[in-house]
This record gives sequence, structure tokens and C-alpha cells, in this order.
Amino acid sequence: MIQIKNLHKSFGDIEVLKGINLTINESEVVCLIGSSGSGKSTLLRCINFLEKKTAGEIWIDGELVQEKQINRIRQKVGMVFQHFDLFPHMTVIQNVMEGPITVKKMPKSLAKVLAMDLLEKVDIKEKADEYPALLSGGQQQRVAIARSLAMEPSVILFDEPTSALDPELVGEVLKVIKDLAKEGRTMIVVTHEMGFAKEVADRVIFLDDGRIVEEGTPVEIFDHPQHERLQIFLGQIL
Ligand code: ADP
Ligand code: MG
Repeated sequence: MIQIKNLHKSFGDIEVLKGINLTINESEVVCLIGSSGSGKSTLLRCINFLEKKTAGEIWIDGELVQEKQINRIRQKVGMVFQHFDLFPHMTVIQNVMEGPITVKKMPKSLAKVLAMDLLEKVDIKEKADEYPALLSGGQQQRVAIARSLAMEPSVILFDEPTSALDPELVGEVLKVIKDLAKEGRTMIVVTHEMGFAKEVADRVIFLDDGRIVEEGTPVEIFDHPQHERLQIFLGQIL
């Protein structure tokens, strides 16, 4: 589904991604872990072309992605951020309908039906006509997930989707992501929630200083870490 070949990314003189090779298969859930500053967000942003890569190739659905296809790729690759950034001047349902209407040219009536279905899926249908500011962080993040799903992406990238939430709201968002995993969605999730990663990930990737240092099943990564850097990282967070 996604194939990344020798991806490099520099900001000025500083190389942040130092040759990433990564294949994500259909229906696979990959959790990306690593210290702050290791390049996790930059990797996701390069996959979604929010950042321009310095070198390397990104293949999506068997197609080598070129700059001029960015808009089409963004439809295939959904992204959910740490800060939900819903449109504040739109109601919940308008937020979810916006992409299908403006980008996919879907008729409004159809977009509304789709949006209601998705709001039901993330269990927040009753807030359809509220404005985001009136919702809790967990509710806003669930709306952001529905908004991303509305574009029917082939893969969804999550960048620390629960790290801005109060602890008691983390569970409801993780539950939605778990449900998506069960449906067989292809996802890359940057997370510090190691319990979640253990439960949901097919594969865990440890990024350190712009390189993939270790990858494996949750059991391999969490119970039998090989590299010292990973052992230190896990020692700090577990
Ligand atoms: P992570 O998500 O793992 O915490 P990031 O991908 O956000 O790491 O950042 C990796 C490194 O790249 C950091 O040193 C960060 O300061 C740097 N960086 C990220 N974005 C930019 C940018 N737009 N300009 C310059 N440096 C950046
Ligand atoms: Mg980050």
C-alpha cells in the first residue's frame, strides 16, 4: 500500500530523516515510536506531502508519487493530528461534510448522510449541530477522525492523536482507532501509548535520530528489545 524508499529530509543543514525504508501492507496497523525529535512527525508529514522530501521515493497504491499529484494523494492519505484543528466556524457535521463537498464534489444531501453515518461510527452523532468549541478534546478528536474518514482514504496517519487530551479522555479516542483497526483499515499511528501499541499494532517501528533502528511485532519490540537505544527509550517511558 505504501512503500518508502531511502527517504531523506533536511531542514537547512540539519538532516532529520536519514534514509527511511518502509513498506506498509494493506490492512496493517503500524505504530511508530521514538523520542521527541526523532523525526516521527516529519516522516508522516513527508508521506502526506505536508513536507517536501529532500530525497527518496514514496509509492502509494503502486504509484510513484510526484509533486503534481499532491491533491489526489492527500485524498488517499488521511491525517489526524495531535491538535484536532477542526474548523471553528463550522458545526460538527459541517466539518465532516466539508471535504466530500469541496474536494470530491459530492452533492450536499449525500455528504450529509455520509457524515451522519461517520459521526455515528465515532459515537458522537448527538453533537452533529454543535460547534467544536463546545466539545471536549476527546469528542473533537473523534470528529476529526470522522472528518478524515469522510474522504475515504486508503491509509490514515495518526500523529499522537491522544497526547493533547486529558487522561480520562484518551480511552474513548483509542477505542475508535481500535475499531478502525478491527475493520482492517491501513494505519500508521505515532503514539506514546504503549499499551495501545501492544494491543493494536501488527508491527512496531522504533525511530531514533532519523533512522529506523528496530522493527518487529509488539512482543519483539516491547518484551525483547535488541538495540540499546530502544532499551533505554522503553526504560524511560514504561
Ligand atoms: P518527533 O515528531 O519525533 O518529535 P519531528 O519530526 O517533529 O520529531 O522533528 C524532528 C526534528 O526536525 C527536530 O529536531 C525538529 O526540531 C526538526 N524540525 C521539524 N520540523 C521542522 C521545521 N519545519 N523546520 C526546522 N526544523 C524542523
Ligand atoms: Mg511529533
